[in-house]
Amino acid sequence: MSLSKVKHIVLVLSGKGGVGKSSVTTQLALSLSLAGHSVGVLDVDLTGPSIPRMFAIEDAKVTQAPGGWLPIIVHEADPSAGIGSLRVMSLGFLLPRRGDAVVWRGPKKTAMVRQFLSDVFWDELDYLLIDTPPGTSDEHISLAETLLQKARLDQLAGAVVVTTPQAVATADVRKELNFCAKTGIRVLGVVENMCGFVCPNCSECTNIFMSGGGEVMASDFGVRFLGRVPIDPQFLVLIETGKRPRYPKGTAVNGQDISTPSQEQ
Ligand code: ADP
Repeated sequence: MSLSKVKHIVLVLSGKGGVGKSSVTTQLALSLSLAGHSVGVLDVDLTGPSIPRMFAIEDAKVTQAPGGWLPIIVHEADPSAGIGSLRVMSLGFLLPRRGDAVVWRGPKKTAMVRQFLSDVFWDELDYLLIDTPPGTSDEHISLAETLLQKARLDQLAGAVVVTTPQAVATADVRKELNFCAKTGIRVLGVVENMCGFVCPNCSECTNIFMSGGGEVMASDFGVRFLGRVPIDPQFLVLIETGKRPRYPKGTAVNGQDISTPSQEQ
């Protein structure tokens, strides 16, 4: 079974699309691997698998091995530099063309998620982050149930719930928190994304939208508030132009510098 060597499984959830769930998954994966953990990212956001674009590996082709589909390697581990490996599997790799929409009906989507959870060869992983489809529809619930059935209880660390500060988004994310309570998924905490804009000139943070909605919601539900991520125009540019994620200056894996060149920063 493909998940048997995974220590901790973390679901990344949001009540609606576009709040930055995939972005937070990407940043979390990079942070954990740069802190020395071996990390896998499984993108089951069938509504728009954006993870390959965020890691600039859209053109990668997955191959089959006797143990299952081999995830795409973003970077290898380098224990001497304190860096863990980072691998990605996404439905996006299996679509015939970039940007193709998945227009399957519910049962076919559920079958694909089952296959993703059983047939990807993850090897040893400290963390598997699962980028889930947004929402709390029947289909979403059946996907989450499938995830819960396939993993052992001791592997399921819980869910990171992503929201934006606006009231509309948090109303949807409240539904997501209720969903976690009903399905027994432990909530690790809430991240408030796009909470303000940091001026590149004076570094002052302006709250373009309302601020603090995520924190209030976390306290209402008795779950941890993990923090805020401001709007970062450079992050958007890197993703829109298909550049690789930004690695801190001097990051090297097995002697090769993988940090983002300064002109891309
Ligand atoms: P979701 O997975 O919730 O649908 P995404 O992570 O795909 O949302 O983000 C939607 C868009 O917003 C993407 O273009 C992404 O680059 C951008 N985005 C998300 N978070 C930030 C941020 N903190 N700063 C700048 N752009 C962001």
